[in-house]
Amino acid sequence: MRFWRAARVANGRLDGWLPDHAVAVEAGRIRDVIPGHQAPAEETVDLGDVSLLPGLVEAHSHVPCPPRVDAFDLITQEAPERGLMRAAAAVGTALRSGVTTMRDLGARNEAAFAIREAIADGVIAGPRLLVAGSPITRTNDHCWFWGGEADTAEEVAALARRQVEAGADVIKVMASGGNFTPSSSPRSLQYPVEVLAGIVATASGAGIEVAAHAHAAAGVRAAVEAGVRHLIHCSWLAEDPDGGLDYDPQLAERIADEGIWVNPTIGLGLLASEARERGDAPPRRNPSMRGSGPTREQRMEIVRDMHARGVRFTSGLDMGMAYADFNRAPAEAWAFVEQVGLSPWEAIRLMTIRTAEALSLSHDIGSIAKGKRADLAAFPNDPAEHIRQLDTPTHVIQDGNRIVSPATPA
Ligand SMILES: [Zn+2]
Repeated sequence: MRFWRAARVANGRLDGWLPDHAVAVEAGRIRDVIPGHQAPAEETVDLGDVSLLPGLVEAHSHVPCPPRVDAFDLITQEAPERGLMRAAAAVGTALRSGVTTMRDLGARNEAAFAIREAIADGVIAGPRLLVAGSPITRTNDHCWFWGGEADTAEEVAALARRQVEAGADVIKVMASGGNFTPSSSPRSLQYPVEVLAGIVATASGAGIEVAAHAHAAAGVRAAVEAGVRHLIHCSWLAEDPDGGLDYDPQLAERIADEGIWVNPTIGLGLLASEARERGDAPPRRNPSMRGSGPTREQRMEIVRDMHARGVRFTSGLDMGMAYADFNRAPAEAWAFVEQVGLSPWEAIRLMTIRTAEALSLSHDIGSIAKGKRADLAAFPNDPAEHIRQLDTPTHVIQDGNRIVSPATPA
């Protein structure tokens, strides 16, 4: 048995601190949480004046993708081995930043599955990884270069089966176009409801869920109609470029009622706007994006309205996009606190237990509770006072093993 003692340990509900407590760990599992003075000195590691949280859960990465403005050119031209090496480094970066579980939402199958297995086998260090592998997309459309192009209903169905057989933990489909790919229009729907519903049926037959990338309002609508459980971006772009946004509060109400998870990727915009303020090169403009995109305030107004209607959100920085480096997962929490109005504890729950629930893993991870995996991350000062403290951890513990301590800087 080992005891990890800290000045502040998050309580089981993740809404307050237990002052000077110790987490008892045996065989990678949390056995108990006890007052610090009761922990036997010879078995105790005193982490000191830190705030101990469950390991962070990050729901949206692209591990081979470099977080650079010229990433598209690089990943469409380089040898696949180079992307694989980058992915191996990226998962290490994520783990050292406190992320102990991560969901990758799009990469070549060869890279995604190899990285997942290498972590599981202990060959490389990284968070427990769930992977989508190749996202399903139309020919030459959003993220075509990851090997998941399918146009007709039959092709899409075959590809969904291929992903299930390959061992995907989740199926990712591009319900609308995206910004990253110059030949793709974010305002356009990629697949009709019936085709998306077919993917959902294949996935649920295998006991997994579907995550749909949807910038277009039409993509959000089609995904909801099709029974998709995870909406990615959910940006509500109107099809008509002059129409700007096409937010539908009634549909938002339905998203809330049906408990569909939404990853609005608002941390990505926050990091990009802070980069612009620093004078860094802005992310490239997609030449296929018609009309100007929404302002950040228009976007936030909608996220605030969805929140008020009870929509359930997950973490998910979209790691690998420009400025979304693999150690910046908490930027999503910053944006929720600073721009949507969540309390720091609400944002901490979003980064841990809520997203664990979205990934169907809350029985195993996401809070400091008896029986759960001993995945822990300690941060300086008090992130429940200042959410930006949820940045560089002083310690990261995965399955009861110390990954990062002050002697090994992240
Ligand atoms: Zn993404």
